[in-house]
Amino acid sequence: MRNKRGEIVTTAVTNLDIHDVARATRTYGLKRYFLVHPLEEMQRVVRRILGHWQEGGGLEYNPLRAEAFSRLALVGTYEEVVARIEAEEGVKPEVWMTSARVVEGIPLLSWEAARHDCERGRPKLLVFGTGWGMTDEFLRQGNALLGPIRAADPSGFNHLSVRSAVAIALDRLLGEQEGRN
Ligand code: SAM
Repeated sequence: MRNKRGEIVTTAVTNLDIHDVARATRTYGLKRYFLVHPLEEMQRVVRRILGHWQEGGGLEYNPLRAEAFSRLALVGTYEEVVARIEAEEGVKPEVWMTSARVVEGIPLLSWEAARHDCERGRPKLLVFGTGWGMTDEFLRQGNALLGPIRAADPSGFNHLSVRSAVAIALDRLLGEQEGRN
């Protein structure tokens, strides 16, 4: 990821993000939520949080949270995510990147076209960043960049938390539509 100075860094995992992204991916029926962190120390923190809610007192207190976590896979690299999907699905995923900004060198995909394509063709991998977002070089590894989420009346500010961006993206792609139900 980038930090505020544009340097490449690893970011700290946020407890809230794990819970909220897990709930959103479970709600919208995604097969897997891959949480990627290269550092063993940070992975240990994540495993401890998951353990509390999947096995500890947390399971008894709130079993729904354990269910939300059931599709979470903790991995060390992006390459591992792609390899795992290929192993499970028999084909490499189509990768859709997300960012608050438009980046040159990667085709822009409209939400409407993406919603239409969701259930067609290869399995889809939606990639979200943390910190100040993913580097341009990394974003260009995707097949497409989903248009930055903005308000209808843009104030110029659109830097959402990753958990908000995930929820909005999943609702645009897979949410119930007014008049359809
Ligand atoms: N300034 C960063 C950027 O340009 O993407 C925002 C980083 S934000 C804390 C973490 C992640 O949430 C981003 O890497 C992206 O995946 C997602 N995100 C945040 N705002 C977004 C927006 N307006 N449109 C699409 N994705 C967004």
